[in-house]
Amino acid sequence: MHEHDRRRFLKLAAGAAATAGSAGWLSEAIAQGKYTPTDKDVFIVVDVQKCFIPGGSLAVDKGDEIVPLINSLAKKFANVVMTQDWHTADHVSFASQHDGKKPFETIQVAYGTQVLWPDHCVQGTEGAEFAPGLDIPHATLVIRKGYHRDVDSYSTFLEADKKTPTGLTGYLRQRGIKRCFLAGLATDFCVGWSAIDARAAGFKAAVIEDACRGINLGGTGLEAAWKEMVAKGVRRIQSTALA
Ligand SMILES: [Zn+2]
Repeated sequence: MHEHDRRRFLKLAAGAAATAGSAGWLSEAIAQGKYTPTDKDVFIVVDVQKCFIPGGSLAVDKGDEIVPLINSLAKKFANVVMTQDWHTADHVSFASQHDGKKPFETIQVAYGTQVLWPDHCVQGTEGAEFAPGLDIPHATLVIRKGYHRDVDSYSTFLEADKKTPTGLTGYLRQRGIKRCFLAGLATDFCVGWSAIDARAAGFKAAVIEDACRGINLGGTGLEAAWKEMVAKGVRRIQSTALA
């Protein structure tokens, strides 16, 4: 091989290896047909709660539509974890706690910019319950998050201060889990942040797009979230990719 060709080959090989190591991991399996989840995979069902579906205080458009699909996807996985947003009644993320502020405005807090929301998912209230029809009896863990008054937690791995762990990383590692498949509400907040943090914690991660619904703040938030997820090595897949 000529020196020029050799260098070009090495560059291409390095690129292919980088792809296979992160974003490409599922492509190969899907290219060969559907992917069958193994005992190294976990399905993380994010925040499918009454407050986040139509009729709830922070309803995600068509959020209820994903419930039957999530139920059927869950049956494909031996390992399922569910999450619940679980706030104090006076939580920092509630617009009601800040004079003159309205939902969807932002404030600055110790860990950066915080979007303000309508009151939602208050601990022990009906709105914090799982959505009607969600039926995953074999789920082994429910992670509750956002329970510190002064810190929000979109991610189910790390609170919004980017320091405080929820404990999920340890649970998954101790159980030998390598790959996280995520679905739920909302794509561009709790699902997306969780998927990015799954990657940061060393797991492979895929978001099942048709088993999520987004909020899409400002009309562009959803696509921006996908862009960031993909840039961090999160796979964007459809439920049809799973056997
Ligand atoms: Zn919340």
